[in-house]
Amino acid sequence: MRIAIIGGGAAGYFSAICAGENYPDAQVTIFEKTNKLLAKVRISGGGRCNVTNATQSIKELSGSYPRGGKKLKNLFTEFGTRETVNWFESRGVRTYAQEDKRMFPETDKSESIVACLQSEAEKKGVQVLTQTAVTGLTPVKEGFSLELNHGEENPRIFHKVIVASGGSPKRKGLEWLEKLGHEIAEPVPSLFTFNIPDDPITNMPGVAVEKAVVSIEGTKLKASGPVLVTHWGLSGPAVLKLSAFGARLLSDSNYKFNVHLNWAGEQNANAVSDHLQEISAEHPNKQIQNIKPFELPDRLWKFILGKADIDPEKKWGELGKKTRNKLTDLLTNDIYRVRGKTTFKEEFVTCGGVSLESVNMKTMESKAVSGLYFAGEILDIDGITGGFNFQSAWTTGYFAGKLK
Ligand SMILES: Cc1cc2nc3c(=O)[nH]c(=O)nc-3n(C[C@H](O)[C@H](O)[C@H](O)COP(=O)(O)OP(=O)(O)OC[C@H]3O[C@@H](n4cnc5c(N)ncnc54)[C@H](O)[C@@H]3O)c2cc1C
Repeated sequence: MRIAIIGGGAAGYFSAICAGENYPDAQVTIFEKTNKLLAKVRISGGGRCNVTNATQSIKELSGSYPRGGKKLKNLFTEFGTRETVNWFESRGVRTYAQEDKRMFPETDKSESIVACLQSEAEKKGVQVLTQTAVTGLTPVKEGFSLELNHGEENPRIFHKVIVASGGSPKRKGLEWLEKLGHEIAEPVPSLFTFNIPDDPITNMPGVAVEKAVVSIEGTKLKASGPVLVTHWGLSGPAVLKLSAFGARLLSDSNYKFNVHLNWAGEQNANAVSDHLQEISAEHPNKQIQNIKPFELPDRLWKFILGKADIDPEKKWGELGKKTRNKLTDLLTNDIYRVRGKTTFKEEFVTCGGVSLESVNMKTMESKAVSGLYFAGEILDIDGITGGFNFQSAWTTGYFAGKLK
């Protein structure tokens, strides 16, 4: 049997290795259009490769995918995060988990993952052709005829094909799959930070709040977690999570929306007001600037006081009801005008791609063309940051490689 894999990224390599393992007599060939193999794995996680996540809860895992999570649930029970860790460990790459559950190779070098995948592919006799783009794919009697950019005289015939060509930021890049009968979910970016041009908050880059709640006006979109102020606006895990869950909606708004911040985390206005009152009662003679509620960073606290027109040297005991209400409002519902986005450089993914409606999610086989399989980001699957995007590449690659 001849098996073609389109794309030499994480999903392409993983499915090629699995196919080689499942069909030892088959000839597996990876076609990679660039001269770089596993390029994203190499640069991922700032060169450390956040290879998976430490969660072993299928519910938490599937909930980390704004798109595709539910349909991945069953696949995760057979090949989830634990299996990923075991897979790499049994091949000599030990991993460790950070406090935030991100998992990295113990070497802290993505090269360990790259080398492992390449050596496994080599062991399985996988042929790898770089600078070889697949430019056309036609179903024929025996399987598929592949056209390559080299313009070979005789088309290459393969019995099975796995498409692992990654996310396409433009719909045009997916037209060839649409023509073959697949539904396409319009591609839009996911995982981006919010631009808040000309707002004085951007004068304090580096300020971070561990447990803020961010929500988007007029929607149910809400995320909690760390928020980071940057030169251009807002970033941090909570913002990235919100960008992922709101990817399509925010694209429709042309990235013009209002964001609401609760700097006090999950606490509501009543609880915050009570807390301010308690401080006033306990420290009536202390300057307001010197006691920061909710362990807010000094710069942010002074910024909020400025926004509320409160003299930072004023005493806590002098804080009247009206001013306290104003302060409560700013702490729990601080509003910013977002105008544009910045793609998160550490890890960005595309929302959209081949619709899961067109794929048998038990086997990863196309419902439109038998013998054609999908793996990785080409699918309408994407996760939040934390190793989830690689995890879906490993999981879908594992099942595509079964060629069932
Ligand atoms: C900077 C950055 C850092 C990231 N860090 C992390 C991280 O730490 N953890 C995490 O979970 N996720 C991370 N991600 C996301 C993750 O890298 C992707 O989700 C994952 O690489 C997708 O794998 P893939 O194999 O589906 O696609 P890709 O890695 O994009 O690979 C697809 C390959 O197919 C090739 N190709 C495309 N079309 C053709 C064609 N017609 N013929 C032949 N070849 C073709 C492409 O050149 C490419 O090499 C990061 C992403 C970026 C951009």
